[in-house]
Amino acid sequence: MGFPIIAPQLKGLFNMRLASALTGTVLASALLLSGTAALAAPAEDLPAVQSSQLSKASSPLALINPTTKLSPEDYVPGKLVGVAGSSMTLRPEAAEAVEAFIADARAAGHSIKLLSAYRSYQRQAVLFNQYQAKYGTAYAERISARPGTSEHQLGLAADLGYTDSRAELKAEFGQTPAGLWIAEHAAEYGLIIRYPQGKEEITGYKYEPWHVRYVGVEHAEAMLASGAETFEEYHQMLAASIAEAEQSEAKAAIEKEPAKAKDEEPQEKSKKAGEDVVVDEDLMVLRFLPPYRDWGFGFTQ
Ligand SMILES: [Zn+2]
Repeated sequence: MGFPIIAPQLKGLFNMRLASALTGTVLASALLLSGTAALAAPAEDLPAVQSSQLSKASSPLALINPTTKLSPEDYVPGKLVGVAGSSMTLRPEAAEAVEAFIADARAAGHSIKLLSAYRSYQRQAVLFNQYQAKYGTAYAERISARPGTSEHQLGLAADLGYTDSRAELKAEFGQTPAGLWIAEHAAEYGLIIRYPQGKEEITGYKYEPWHVRYVGVEHAEAMLASGAETFEEYHQMLAASIAEAEQSEAKAAIEKEPAKAKDEEPQEKSKKAGEDVVVDEDLMVLRFLPPYRDWGFGFTQ
């Protein structure tokens, strides 16, 4: 006598996750968020997005974290430009935002500077290996990304700080006048504090008040308004709003032409799903990684 290994409803969920993993879309945020309270902002309050915006590395909405990795691992952004007053580079839109942000912070009396911006796969590998040798794997993973999973490799992240200060790259930086200014004004420049305090379970990283990530003004402000405290949560809201929009489109089609729509729907859907996979294959730059941290998902490094 056999017991079903996977209950039907769980099987559905599993398949959904597997499908997400394969198409590289909603992917890891669902895993990271499992066990946390589901957030729901009304879809009409969120900017309209296409699913490719959530899965392409070239999109300002690309989400990478400990469970999503760039593909290819040594991805290099299409265009990187110098950030004024530094020898570092970022994607053009992020460079412009960070330059303005630093200039305005200085005008407001905070002498911050850019400490780190774009980092290549190779540079990230060197950094991670150094942390790993110094602190061991478990702690290294809380403070540094494995190569291929760093936002710095996207060319959209910047570390800001003072030089010659004890607060530099430390949690205390968040309480300094400059750290407070950064948190208060980041969204106006399209930047978010990517690793907020108390959200390590979701983001995978310790609080980093100095690490800002470019998402664009529209999304930085929408994220604030949505109540999402992490980019993972905001990403999930956007994915949910896409799903909701697709559902209401399908519903509207059925209401418009009930008989015809009913006949055509299954076929159209499967055709569409097939096309999505192909499109995602083409565009996919993020792929699912088994979570390698011990968050109860059954895999540890
Ligand atoms: Zn950083």
